[in-house]
Amino acid sequence: MTKFDYDLFVIGGGSGGVRASRIAAQTGARVALAEEYRMGGTCVIRGCIPKKLFVYASQFSENVKDAAGYGWDFGDAKFDWPTLIANKDKEIARLEGLYTKNVQAAGVIILQDRAVFEDQHTLRLLNSGKTVTADKILIATGNRPTRDLGGSHVIPGAELCITSDDAFHLKELPKRILIAGGGYIALEFAHIFHGLGSHVSLVYRGEKPLRGFDDDVRDALCASMQQRGLEVLLGCEFTKIEKRGDCLHAETNKGGKVDCDQIMVAIGRTPNTMALHVEKAGVELGKKGEVKVDEYFRTSAPNIYAIGDVTDRIQLTPVAIHEAMCFVETVFKNNPTRPDHAHVPTAVFSTPEIASVGLSEEMALLKGHTVDVYKASFRPLLHTLGGREVRTLMKLVVDAKTDRVLGCHMFGDHAAEIIQIAAVTLRLKATKKDFDSTMALHPTAAEELVTMRTKSYSRAP
Ligand code: FAD
Ligand code: NDP
Repeated sequence: MTKFDYDLFVIGGGSGGVRASRIAAQTGARVALAEEYRMGGTCVIRGCIPKKLFVYASQFSENVKDAAGYGWDFGDAKFDWPTLIANKDKEIARLEGLYTKNVQAAGVIILQDRAVFEDQHTLRLLNSGKTVTADKILIATGNRPTRDLGGSHVIPGAELCITSDDAFHLKELPKRILIAGGGYIALEFAHIFHGLGSHVSLVYRGEKPLRGFDDDVRDALCASMQQRGLEVLLGCEFTKIEKRGDCLHAETNKGGKVDCDQIMVAIGRTPNTMALHVEKAGVELGKKGEVKVDEYFRTSAPNIYAIGDVTDRIQLTPVAIHEAMCFVETVFKNNPTRPDHAHVPTAVFSTPEIASVGLSEEMALLKGHTVDVYKASFRPLLHTLGGREVRTLMKLVVDAKTDRVLGCHMFGDHAAEIIQIAAVTLRLKATKKDFDSTMALHPTAAEELVTMRTKSYSRAP
């Protein structure tokens, strides 16, 4: 028996914390976990899962239109927002229950409470007022939406805006919504609200949304949004927001004045370390408030570790889960394991989707590769009878010297499903020759990836 209440105390019941606590308990460790809100964390409660359900809901409007070309007539299609919210809430509650049950079944004690540091081994639970001690502590507190629209200068009325957290619980579907940002959340929700029937304007401060993604994919997305009737305001920022009667009134640096029902900010996320009092435990934070960790998740305090979004590295559920597994291998199984952050596939669930793995053309050049680029742009078979002007883009970025495929990028239906498997090939160091010698599966969109024989162009750094 040690002198501590627990061998491991996990703060946060999200993707990382749930996995780490469960697997650590299976090694025989005495584990407790504090969750201040709902088990499952961002992904299950107000992230990936409810978002994807909303994406499905938003795509039926187009599917119904496409069906007409195939002879179907569904009459007057109608959408009911309260039904979607109620059904989504039911499914999220079911998942929350499953997460709780699985963690408890592994022997983890769940404390529904907010935990804050008292010292390097002691945490205070704010609801119960109790203190608990642990030999090792894992910070897996995730992050929350950033609200400060103007950065260092305050935008009047910014507090009237909603974030993605609120978007999951709106009483009514907004008829007119402005969305600030040009990242994952802004793009996904712009397409969700558009598909459900809202008039959407994306307000982005830069030249092109989705900085960091391959330029061709970004261009294809912008063209598609315009073609679908989503308004994209580039180089644009809010200067003022105010309530006028039942509406919100927004003004921008471009002289725009718009009345709307909701304004959503999706301008990045801030690590959940505020008022956690990590300083009492000697844990160092970075500029954004992220917990600084080394390659084995060690913080500046020897018995305290951190994983997932709170470390502000790659903010994705599978990455938080992978880090949890590496943490348990390293700390509880005596098998030092570093996370593998290379070849992480990622998708933006716009309509259609964007998905990517490996280097963009721009990044490959920056890293000194001379590249051969293969591109295909085509109208998917579905839309030949469906009638809509929809195009799919596929792109391979290949190292000219070694023939190794450095990046695989797609904009089109089912992109995420296809790129998940392409990620395996990149991990296995596949060459363009390997792609070429793979038999196509016909008729699919994915077959384009193995039939792009003609190089589009080459570029040197
Ligand atoms: P979280 O899941 O955020 O868990 C942290 C938990 O800690 C929370 O439950 C919080 O309540 C709790 N907590 C915080 N402080 C305390 C405290 N002091 N005491 C007790 N509890 C505390 N990723 C993907 O891979 N695919 C997607 O499609 C995707 N979609 C997303 C959509 C949205 C709208 C958002 C916001 C995120 C999305 N993500 C997606 C990102 C993904 O949700 C996160 O990367 C992932 O949840 C991170 O897991 P985590 O364990 O680090 O943190
Ligand atoms: P992102 O980091 O993806 O994008 C933030 C956007 O906000 C950028 O376009 C940025 O512009 C802009 N921005 C930042 N600060 C300001 C400001 N002060 N004023 C105006 N615009 C600003 O963050 P998100 O909030 O969209 O998502 C957070 C993270 O969650 C993502 O990075 C992703 O890891 C994860 N996520 C993953 C999803 C998925 O896997 N499908 C879905 C949703 C979230 P600029 O580019 O000019 O800096």
